[in-house]
Amino acid sequence: MTVGSGLRGSFPLTIESIDKELKFIAPGTFGLGVLGHDGRFMLLYVGRSDSDVRKALKTFVGKANRFKFEYYDDPEQAFFKECEIFHFMKPKANKSHPQRAEGMPWRCPHCGVY
Ligand SMILES: [Zn+2]
Repeated sequence: MTVGSGLRGSFPLTIESIDKELKFIAPGTFGLGVLGHDGRFMLLYVGRSDSDVRKALKTFVGKANRFKFEYYDDPEQAFFKECEIFHFMKPKANKSHPQRAEGMPWRCPHCGVY
């Protein structure tokens, strides 16, 4: 085992699969990617939703093959996880630092951006 993202999955990035794997409306962090030749998930993008990670994932159907996710009770926790993955796994499709929710004083634990 290599060090992973700590997210559940991966699962096929389809509406049917998202509805099957995500039963609740809640904040969460997700990773999008593809399967490499060795069958391992390769992360290309990390994102989050502060209210409904299932709905957010559905907007990416067709843009990647696989997804991973985890729910968080609190959107700040989802932000922390997003920052951790952004800094340590450096997904290629993330061009800029994860954004805080509007007006929130959240601090990224890994850098000085926030
Ligand atoms: Zn940071």
